[in-house]
Amino acid sequence: MRWSRYFLHTTREVPSDAEVVSHRLMVRAGMIRKLAAGIYTYLPFGWRSLRKLMTIVRRELDAAGAVELNMPAIQPAALWEESGRWEKYGKELLRLTDRHERPFCFGPTHEEVVTEAVRGAVKSYRQLPVNLFQIQVKFRDEIRPRFGLMRGREFLMKDGYSFDVDDEGLTVTYDAMGRAYERIFEECQLRFLRVEADSGTIGGTSSHEFMVLAETGESEIASCAACGYGANVERAAAGALEPPPAGPEGERRVVETPGRTTVDEVAAFLGVAPAQIVKTLVYETENGPVVALGRGDREIHPVKLGNAVGAAQVQLAGETTVREITGSPVGYAGPVGLAEGVAVVADETVRPLTGFVTGANRADAHLVGVNWTDEDLPAVTWADLLTVTAGDPCPRCGEELAITRGIEVGHIFRLGDAYSEPMGCVYTDENGDTRPMIMGCYGLGIGRTIAAAIEQNHDEKGIIWPRPLAPFEVLVMPLTSRDPEVVREAERIYEELRAKGADVLLDDRDERPGVKFNDADLIGVPVRVVIGSRSLAEGKVELSHRRDGEKRPTSTARAVERALEMLLDEDAPAG
Ligand code: ATP
Ligand code: MG
Repeated sequence: MRWSRYFLHTTREVPSDAEVVSHRLMVRAGMIRKLAAGIYTYLPFGWRSLRKLMTIVRRELDAAGAVELNMPAIQPAALWEESGRWEKYGKELLRLTDRHERPFCFGPTHEEVVTEAVRGAVKSYRQLPVNLFQIQVKFRDEIRPRFGLMRGREFLMKDGYSFDVDDEGLTVTYDAMGRAYERIFEECQLRFLRVEADSGTIGGTSSHEFMVLAETGESEIASCAACGYGANVERAAAGALEPPPAGPEGERRVVETPGRTTVDEVAAFLGVAPAQIVKTLVYETENGPVVALGRGDREIHPVKLGNAVGAAQVQLAGETTVREITGSPVGYAGPVGLAEGVAVVADETVRPLTGFVTGANRADAHLVGVNWTDEDLPAVTWADLLTVTAGDPCPRCGEELAITRGIEVGHIFRLGDAYSEPMGCVYTDENGDTRPMIMGCYGLGIGRTIAAAIEQNHDEKGIIWPRPLAPFEVLVMPLTSRDPEVVREAERIYEELRAKGADVLLDDRDERPGVKFNDADLIGVPVRVVIGSRSLAEGKVELSHRRDGEKRPTSTARAVERALEMLLDEDAPAG
């Protein structure tokens, strides 16, 4: 490709809404252009990178036995009513009405449509398993679209769906898909982790996420270097924590704690460890308020709490609700004397506590010497609500867990019969019995993976593409268009590299060297060949990797061969 005839316009302007580096660099390198919040045009230079990823994805899924199809973006509401998600999906679902006032939505995901297609075609166990995928535009009306392609509203997803006769069949397919995902991210040369995940609103029994490791990631991951355990913090468990010392034995009593509302203030005032305080937090959910009890020195995870009570939206309640439930201002809530009928969930870590401290449900007062055997305590549901932190014991091997940040680029789920059952996607087994198909689903964000690749691979000057995702592999850069020798040599190298199958961009623009060098660093093409008058007079051109920038003067005769070798070096495991 010749830059002069290409559509690649770099810019110094950084959009004011660009909070993360991948977003800034994608805009500056002329990869994407914003049309509306969370809605982008993929410009040619960006689209090339997305297409390279899609080629890798298609190749690996094909090798793993999945079959590509393409489903409609616009989906009838009736289908979503069958699965029960028309109501449940909430505001992320973009709802539309046609001229006949018939309701539709723009698909945020395709479980319903694929289930409809399979139930219409598959009748017998002999036709199973089925494993289908597509790469398609999704729309989710995200509450906070941000980070460019990382959290868009309109975005490209590879979504796949499998149908098996039973759980064992699903395990085989699920494992094959998991391995295909690993190969995809390895081929992209990304550093990633496969971790246990929360299943969210798609439902189902278990799931795994693929996380590209990057400090700017929105997800927190707990991982164990000793045994390989890894889980999203929304789900991660810890081994048993060291219990705090037992509290005083004897009568429970009320103590005045004027103005002490935080755990630390109460602990200091009463001379106890924060871990000896059971804190009481009131949350708001779509099904009404719920009270959570947790260890004073630790945090409750709202997603775990949501799972314990079957709620998708969980957030700390405001002052008014807290007063309604506890009869006291914020800061003095406790389990004794809560409003009738409110669900109370307690974190497993407070179960071993005795003689502990809680709020008294009255301003400026706490209870000391509380025990789970106290008869006026409400019935509690025990659950794991703990937010795991670095240094907690691994639930598998007991070694210390580390916390890292990552970007969720893929998510695979065991759905079971969550869709096939309500939607009547059934088959006849060997004995003539009718059974629901057992489903899995497999998502991979195309744009988000490209953004994640940039988050992981850049410096202050620009992108440093992993070779497999680079829009172009080699940049041929004549430093002047006035010297015919330079132009001729650049053309020769460009044409020869192309003939040898390399993906080459020729910077034939009539620009100053400084502009060209800055742009080259910004757009991050992995291998660069620079042709200047002075070195050419000595029969040399200058080759370099974007990764380290080290200049390698090379004879013109060897330039093409050397550039191709350097491309192969790009694929050597990164140091
Ligand atoms: P998140 O928790 O980030 O909202 P999700 O659980 O809603 O993700 P899935 O429904 O599992 O995501 O979608 C599968 C994949 O699609 C994700 O792993 C991600 O790569 C991609 N994806 C999801 N939402 C977006 C979005 N708003 N913009 C870009 N990619 C997305
Ligand atoms: Mg989401």
